Order: sequence, then structure tokens, then C-alpha cells
Amino acid sequence: MADIRQGEIMKEGTQRIVARDAQRINILAGRIVAETVRTTLGPKGMDKMLVDSLGDVVITNDGATILDEMDIAHPAAKMIVEVAKTVDNEVGDGTTSAAILAGELLKKAEELLDQKIHATVIAKGYRLAADKAEEILDKISIKATDADYKKVAVTTLTGKGAEVGRDYLAEMAVKAVKAVEQNGKVNLEDIKLEKKEGGSLEDSEIIEGITIDKEVVHAGMPKKVENAKIALINAAIEVEKTETDAKINISSPDQLQMFLDQEEKILKEMADKIAASGANVVFCQKGIDDLAQHYLAKNGILAARRVKKSDMEKLAKATGSRVVTNVNELTGKDLGKAGLVEERKIAKDELIFVEKCVNPKAITVLLRGGTKHVVEDLERSMHDAVSVVAAVAKDPRVMAGGGAAEMELEKNLAEYADSVGGREQLAIKAFAEAMEVIPRSLSENAGLDPVDMIVKLRTQHGKKGGETYGLDVFKGDIADMYSEGVLEPRKVKEQAIKSASEAAVMILRIDDIIAASELKGGRGPPGGGGPEDFD
Ligand code: ADP
Ligand code: MG
Repeated sequence: MADIRQGEIMKEGTQRIVARDAQRINILAGRIVAETVRTTLGPKGMDKMLVDSLGDVVITNDGATILDEMDIAHPAAKMIVEVAKTVDNEVGDGTTSAAILAGELLKKAEELLDQKIHATVIAKGYRLAADKAEEILDKISIKATDADYKKVAVTTLTGKGAEVGRDYLAEMAVKAVKAVEQNGKVNLEDIKLEKKEGGSLEDSEIIEGITIDKEVVHAGMPKKVENAKIALINAAIEVEKTETDAKINISSPDQLQMFLDQEEKILKEMADKIAASGANVVFCQKGIDDLAQHYLAKNGILAARRVKKSDMEKLAKATGSRVVTNVNELTGKDLGKAGLVEERKIAKDELIFVEKCVNPKAITVLLRGGTKHVVEDLERSMHDAVSVVAAVAKDPRVMAGGGAAEMELEKNLAEYADSVGGREQLAIKAFAEAMEVIPRSLSENAGLDPVDMIVKLRTQHGKKGGETYGLDVFKGDIADMYSEGVLEPRKVKEQAIKSASEAAVMILRIDDIIAASELKGGRGPPGGGGPEDFD
């Protein structure tokens, strides 16, 4: 390296690593990250215990969660984390597979680099292979039947913490997605996952409406309203303090009384206005003044305050209500409906159930389980389950799991490689072989001999009708995964391959690392709950 010149051009302390060294380091960093999640793949995968700097513990085998919680500093390693995040955001499952695949693509690339094949050639070959993989997926995917929706959910839940209630959870996932689906469109935001520790998994249920983690605001209000007419208000039911502070200059007790009377009058008018609309339930995104609460209670209205913006939106969808930003504008037309609104105690907490909604466009899955860790893991599992069912609702094509699809991809990609000339051929071949990392990891994690299993699978996939053979990790042998009901959405496979190859190509194309003297912590601005969220 031309260190002398570099010192003159770049700031002191700047580190520069070029060409082969840069590639080696990046590839290694990416592979290490992928390797950490490899043991969690599949139903027999192990869990990881993650302990953060505050000592909080998460136990999971969810790839996205593990990678998210790991404090990763190396930029190339972070790209693998990004792969998992992208896959999680796009399809909600297949995150571990994607990360492992990315790691394997890097490993294979390293071998090609050692054979003096240029990184740009490898990148080109990988891109060609990724495009071809889409075509192959078209060829080998199967049209989903009605029963397949539940099967993809069961497949996702197999081996997760929620294993015991798998069937029950899978059915709930299907019901939840069907409830909010509109012509093949599913917005997962419309399925609220509410977790409450206590009770058992079988106490989990679908609520035809929304649960709100708030208490009824005033003791004099009803705790239960049938045939509810619901007003959603995004404005404080209070007297604006600035108005009064500025104008009133109190110099005598009489004046004070007048001022208080005036304030009381305004609040009473607001409550009366709400009652006049016909509402008997109010959800307010902002605060409700004590006196206003009193008047609402007098009108027999059930109210909750400081409801999250996201919950207000869900309530609007579930009840057909319109959020108004000014109490004075509220009319009967803005109100939504629910068969029942009731505050109920679930374990230690009060929850307001807005349920028995007619044809709700947003619903709730209430998840119950013994401890905090259990319900948290349950929530992650349910997230995966509704995601895969939604993926099939959007694109009703499925593939055989247990490594079956990957074996078929390997075979077809290898054939494609033979048809492509030049050095790219080697990269396509490498890409094909990388697919094998999925059945191999599944075997290893199940304590099976990966070499034996791969040989058996390859033999089957060479035969007609053997396309859907994969690993049955419970029987410890290969089996027809389609008839076993081990199915995955095509969308998930597609996304995993796409994201993995994009990341591998991106990492490969880097031949120069220029790092400032001190690497910044890499943490973005503190995220989470924007100003709209009150909790
Ligand atoms: P990911 O984060 O990639 O979804 P998982 O730990 O959920 O990782 O494992 C998914 C893999 O497990 C897929 O390849 C899937 O086909 C496989 N799999 C799921 N159920 C079974 C089963 N019963 N037998 C064999 N493989 C299975
Ligand atoms: Mg999964």
C-alpha cells in the first residue's frame, strides 16, 4: 500500500484495506454472522439465549430476532443482518434460510477468488443464477389448495416454542388472515397481536374487533356497553390552557368563580355534544379532563384516553368509525359500531375489548401463555404464521419444504450453468451448490449424516416424481414433503434467494475499505414509538 501518499490525502488515522484483503475480511465477517444462526435452522434447530447490556433475556430461534439483537459492528456482517431484516419485512419468514444462504454464497465466492476468478465475474454469474432461480421456482411451485394455507402455517410453527398448540395457532393464523383479506390483498397491520401473560395457550383467541390496552377512564362510567356506537376523537377533551391563561386576569374570588364556571360550561358542552351524536363509547387519542370525564359518565358513556394512534386506526377499520379531530364536528355519521365494548381483567391487567364487530376490517389475536418469555415467543411465532398465510393469500403458490425446493434449484441451476459459456459458468455452478446448505444444515441440526442425506436426496431428485423429496427430520430420512404437508410459500423462497444473492454480490464488489479513524457506534437515532404513541 502507498502509505506515504495516503497519509497526505486522507485524515490521519484513516484505515485503508484494499483488493483481496478487503474481500477476504468482508467475506469472513459475513460468513461468521451466517454461521451463528445456522444451528437454529429447521424444526430441530436449537434456540439462542440473547442477553442485552441491561441483562434482559430473549430466548428464541427466530433468525431475524437473533441477528437484530446481536450487536454487530462490522459493516459487511451488518449486510447479512440487513438480509434477514429485509426478508422479515417483506415476507416475515425465511430469515434464517436467507442469512445462511448469503453466507454460503460468500464461502463459494471465496473459493472462486482463490482460483483467480475475478469478483465481477462471480457477481455477474450470481446475478444470472438468481434470475434463473426465479424461473425455476415458477416451474416447481404448486398451486395452493385451501388446506395448504394451514399447512404453511403449521410448517412455520414446527419446532418453534409454540410447538404444542401448533394446530390451534395455525388455524387462528388462517382465520385471522381470511378475516382481513380483501381480494388477495392482506395488510398485516390489520391483524393486531395482543399478548398477555397468564393463562394457557388454549386461552388464546381471535377477537372480532380490537383490544385496547387501557382502562375505562372514570369510575362512574359503565364497564360494559352493548350495541356500542363508537366515537374516535383525535383531540383533547379539555379546555385549551393557552386560551384562558392569556385572557384572564383574576383579581377577586368572584372572578375566579366565573372563570371556573366558564371552563365547566365548555367541558359540559363538549360532553353533551358527544352524547348528542348518539355515541355511547369514546376513544380519545389525547387527554380527557376530569370534569369532562364526569359529564361523559353522567351521560352513560364509556371512555378511554391516550389511545395509541395505531390503535385508533385499527378501531376505525374494525368498527367503521371515522376519526374526528374536533369534538364540535362529531355527528352520528362518524360513529362506528361494535356488538360489545367491555373492560375485562386479563391476568393482572385491564383491557378494553371492542368486539363482535360486523365484518371487521381489522381484528385481534389475543395471545396467552404462562410467562413473559412464553408469550413473547408466541408472538414471534404467530407473526411468522400470519406472515406465511398472508404470503400465500397474495400469491397462492407453495413449494415443498425440508430442503426439497433447494435440491431442485440446485439441479436445475447446475443444468443451466452447463448451458452458459465462459467463466460465469463456474459462478452459476457455485450458486447452485450453495443451495445445498439448506438441506445440509437441516440434517446436521437433526443429528443426521448430511452426506448420506444429500446423496439420497440427489438420487430421488434425479428421478421423475422425486421433485418434492426433502428431509423429514422427525423420521430421520428423506420423504415426499408435499404429501407430508411440509409446505412453504413460494414468495418466501423467492425473497430469501433474492436478498441473499443481492447481499453476496454487494459484498463481493467491494475491493476497498476506507474507514474513518474511529468507527461510529453504528446505532441510529433512538427509534421506537414516535410522538403519536403515548405509551
Ligand atoms: P427460517 O427463519 O428460514 O424460516 P426456520 O428455523 O423456520 O428458519 O426453518 C425453516 C426450514 O425448516 C425450512 O427449510 C423448512 O422447509 C424446514 N422445515 C420446516 N418444517 C419441517 C419438517 N417438518 N421437516 C423438515 N423440514 C422442515
Ligand atoms: Mg421459519
